[in-house]
Amino acid sequence: MPIPRLYVGSALSEGARIELEAGQTHHLLNVLRMSEGDSALIFNGRDGEWSGDLIVLSRKKAEIAIEHQTRAYRPSPDLELLFAPLKKDRTDFTIEKAVELGVRRIQPVLTERTNADHVRPDRLQSLAIGSAEQSERLDVPDIAPPRRLGIVLRDWPAGRILLFADEQGDEKQKPWGGEAGRARAAAEVIAQITSERECAPLSVLIGPEGGFSPEERAYLRLQSFVHPVSLGPRILRAETASTVLLGLVQALWGDR
Ligand code: SAM
Repeated sequence: MPIPRLYVGSALSEGARIELEAGQTHHLLNVLRMSEGDSALIFNGRDGEWSGDLIVLSRKKAEIAIEHQTRAYRPSPDLELLFAPLKKDRTDFTIEKAVELGVRRIQPVLTERTNADHVRPDRLQSLAIGSAEQSERLDVPDIAPPRRLGIVLRDWPAGRILLFADEQGDEKQKPWGGEAGRARAAAEVIAQITSERECAPLSVLIGPEGGFSPEERAYLRLQSFVHPVSLGPRILRAETASTVLLGLVQALWGDR
C-alpha cells in the first residue's frame, strides 16, 4: 500500500503535531486500518511535503507528528481552467482531470447555453483535494464560485492569454471556419505562444454541451488576448476537450 497523502490547512515544520479532521482520522484508522507509528505524507499547498507518524489519541481522534520534509514546495504552472458547468458526473470528471493535470485555478463560467449552473464550490473543492492527494501534487487548485463569461472577460487581467476551444473553428462551411475565422490547431498555437512568451499565464476556455452561441464566439474572437484553437474535426464532449487541451498545454509548456 502506498504511503497515504493528506492535505491539511496548518503550517508544517519539523516536530509539529497536526490534528486530523474526523474524515481523515476515519480514513486512516478504519479504511486503511493504519495504527500508531505508521507513516503518512502531509502537504498544505505552501510548505512542501512532509513525512510524519500517526499518533492515535482515540477511535475518533488522531494526529500526525511531523518528522522531516520529503519534497520542497514548487507552485504548479500558472494555468487556469474556465469551463461551463455540466451535469454532475461530467463536472466531477472535468475537475478531477484538471487537478491531475496541474491547473492552479478553476473558474466555472456561466454561458448562454450552460444547463447546469448549480455548482457547489465546497463539494468541488473537496473533490479537488482528493485528486491532489492522489496525484501527489504539492498544492490544491482554488475553485472559484461560478461567474458569467461576459464578466470574466470584462475583468480579464493584463498579460494573461486565453485559449478558446472553438468547436466551430474547424469547419469551412461555418462562419468561423475557413481562412477568415479558422481556429488553428491547438498544439501549433500553444507551441507558438510558449516559444514567444516563456511563462505567460495561460487560461483555457471550454464551452457547455450546447457549445458557444454565435454572439459569444464573435465577442471572444474580438478580444486581443483570445486565441481560438481547434482540437480536430470531431466534436468532443466538454470533459474530453478540457482534458485533451490541458494535457497539450502541460506537455508543451507547463510540465516540460
Ligand atoms: N454542441 C456543440 C456543437 O455541436 O457544435 C458542441 C459543444 S462540445 C460538446 C463542448 C465544448 O467542447 C465546446 O464548446 C468546445 O469548447 C469544446 N470542443 C469540443 N470539440 C472541440 C473541437 N473539435 N475543437 C475545439 N473545441 C472543442
